[in-house]
Amino acid sequence: MRIDILSVLPELLHSPLQHSIMKRAQEKGLLEVHLHDLREFGLGKHKQLDDYQFGGGAGMVMMAEPIAHAIESLQAQHTYDEIIYMTPDGHRLDQPLANRLSLKGNLMILCGHYKGIDERIRDHFITLEISIGDYVLSGGELPAAVLVDAIGRLLPGVLNDETSALFDSFQDKLLAPPVYTRPADFRGWQVPDVLLSGNFSLIEEWRLEQSLHRTRERRPDLLEDPGEGERE
Ligand code: SAH
Repeated sequence: MRIDILSVLPELLHSPLQHSIMKRAQEKGLLEVHLHDLREFGLGKHKQLDDYQFGGGAGMVMMAEPIAHAIESLQAQHTYDEIIYMTPDGHRLDQPLANRLSLKGNLMILCGHYKGIDERIRDHFITLEISIGDYVLSGGELPAAVLVDAIGRLLPGVLNDETSALFDSFQDKLLAPPVYTRPADFRGWQVPDVLLSGNFSLIEEWRLEQSLHRTRERRPDLLEDPGEGERE
């Protein structure tokens, strides 16, 4: 999979994409992430990217022209399955959406700043708008990093144990069960006996019970939402 990210602050994305699982995905050639500095498409000798908003009001708006040029220059080289804009009023990112995007070949992600981007870019170029939650951040870079991580770890071969992503929270509409590691006794706090029993069918049963219990307690909405996964 290839992901191109357009940003006025691509440096913000370096670290999150260069460690751990994201690093491994790229080293194995399963994921290619290319960062593009929108400043290169800025207008005039000051490489201007933003301007005051029509109608007045506080806050600058990212201009259409530099963004359009940046998108078109990438489109001239590749075909994109989705051109995504990270925005608080987009479709809320969830596991089914991450699953669906992990099946794509080429994605472009646009990060906004300031008040956001000129609406005409959204109208004419953007094919999918994604929010990472109901709060406002100052830029789209951290949301883009979240999205790339959520997608990247699902690509076949990225995780060591290929099945492990399937048992994370939200796959199957269930939260993950509790997990423990050595020692079995820490300060007198014991690991549940069943996990030490070696009886794998009992362990599976216990894990499912714990998942159901945790989901009922913390996120009953997941159990009630029949349409999840088929929404797109
Ligand atoms: N005025 C906008 C917010 C702009 S925040 C509004 O009220 O909706 C600046 C940029 O940060 C946005 O263009 C977007 O790219 C990014 N951003 C902020 N919060 C986000 C969120 N919850 N999800 C995804 N992107 C977000």
